[in-house]
Amino acid sequence: MPSDYDMNRSSYAGLPERFFARVDPIPAAKPRLLRFNHALGLELGLAVGDLDAEALAGLFSGNIIPPGVEPIAMAYAGHQFGHFVPQLGDGRAILMGEALDRAGVRRDIQLKGSGRTPFSRGGDGRAALGPVLREYLVSEAMHALGIPTTRALAAVATGEPVFREQALPGAIVTRVAASFVRVGTFQYFAARDDVDAVRRLADYVIDRHYPEAKTEQQPYLALLRAVTDGQASLIANWMHVGFIHGVMNTDNMAVSGETIDFGPCAFMDSYDPAAVFSSIDSQGRYAYGNQPHAAVWNLARFAETLLPIIDAGADRAVELASEVLATFSMRFSDLSLAGVRRKLGLSVREDGDAALAEDLLDAMHRNQADYTLTFRRLCDAAEREAGDTDVRSLFVNPRDYDEWAARWRARLTREPLEPRARAAAMRKVNPAIIPRNHRIQRVIDAAVQGQDFAPFAELSAVLSQPYQPPEGFESYADPPQPSERVQQTFCGT
Ligand code: AMP
Ligand code: MG
Repeated sequence: MPSDYDMNRSSYAGLPERFFARVDPIPAAKPRLLRFNHALGLELGLAVGDLDAEALAGLFSGNIIPPGVEPIAMAYAGHQFGHFVPQLGDGRAILMGEALDRAGVRRDIQLKGSGRTPFSRGGDGRAALGPVLREYLVSEAMHALGIPTTRALAAVATGEPVFREQALPGAIVTRVAASFVRVGTFQYFAARDDVDAVRRLADYVIDRHYPEAKTEQQPYLALLRAVTDGQASLIANWMHVGFIHGVMNTDNMAVSGETIDFGPCAFMDSYDPAAVFSSIDSQGRYAYGNQPHAAVWNLARFAETLLPIIDAGADRAVELASEVLATFSMRFSDLSLAGVRRKLGLSVREDGDAALAEDLLDAMHRNQADYTLTFRRLCDAAEREAGDTDVRSLFVNPRDYDEWAARWRARLTREPLEPRARAAAMRKVNPAIIPRNHRIQRVIDAAVQGQDFAPFAELSAVLSQPYQPPEGFESYADPPQPSERVQQTFCGT
């Protein structure tokens, strides 16, 4: 096997033994490479370019462990739908090691679906093909949209069934992340009153993600600030593309600020702030419009774990942490407004902009207008008024659009850019193509029921250019027909 395969022992494995369990992936019966992300492989500087599909399948199933690598399963806890679970951990994932990417950034490489670990509890440690393909498609789509996210390096079929409600083909996805440290990782140690571990973990995260915090007077408070800022920005980004994470439990919030865990996630079709797709989110806790609130709630749980290392005086620590948490809301609204201004082609700031944006969203909601298409078609409308026809056709009552569009046009007269330049700028922030649920479902059905991976390859390719759909694939921008609408998405467990 490739001794030059450039993956190193994970730096996380250098932390004390109670941070993880040493465990090897359980070999897969008949691994078969479904997809390898060559571009990402190059970015990571992995010397796997010469390997054939069989060798890649061996590596990304965990059947072959490169020399020097020490696989581990990370310990973490987490609040799931508001209820604290003191021990979760990598029950079906194994951190293989890290690579130094072309930009000099250390990136973690993890197999998900690679068999049981000491954290598996009742689970089988495996993943089904459908959720693996979903994670591959959506995480790569998020990246192409320009949103911080874990990436997908490979998908491998295990050649073994997994048993859910029915027998399904098993698969493994290789994920790449800035790191896999979660809010829940901090909670794991805080729940055990292991302040020393919390401090070591905080130092590790500061070293790895926020080295500038070290020079601050209060490095751990600076860490809280950095993670808070990162989440405000991440959630604003999600909202701008209509992404609903679906399971924003604290174990699914990475302190690096990347999107992580694509179980029951979905992109909205028609705009609805209350949109929920996850089958297990019956209360709408993680509905589209609730995501900023869920994020602050999680950040408060994060802050609690840091209190003992922020200040020896408990009251003082709470006071300091609360001040930081209170900045989330302002920061999130600023980023939201800045983003929606870009989406509407507004480059100067005016007081009425927030109301203008809100009124459009209200009209879209009342009229069940498609979120992505409305903004995309506004790009044409911003260039020439004839473009209005295609926007208004998305509204049940097109006059609602007309009324709003008259205000928008009046506002655009106070903008410096030429219409064509304005439209071009808008097309860079309003995607034409998002991973629509019905498209993903079609890909999964073809793969699971017909062993046909051509739709997966095609959707993958189209999603890599969300702002400029390749010629001939424009229909990928279309919303679902009523009969194609996917109402629910499921966790991959
Ligand atoms: P998730 O819903 O993917 O965020 O996972 C929540 C917890 O359940 C994590 O600790 C997972 O490792 C664990 N888990 C999920 N699916 C499985 C499985 N098939 N086998 C073992 N553990 C699992
Ligand atoms: Mg998870």
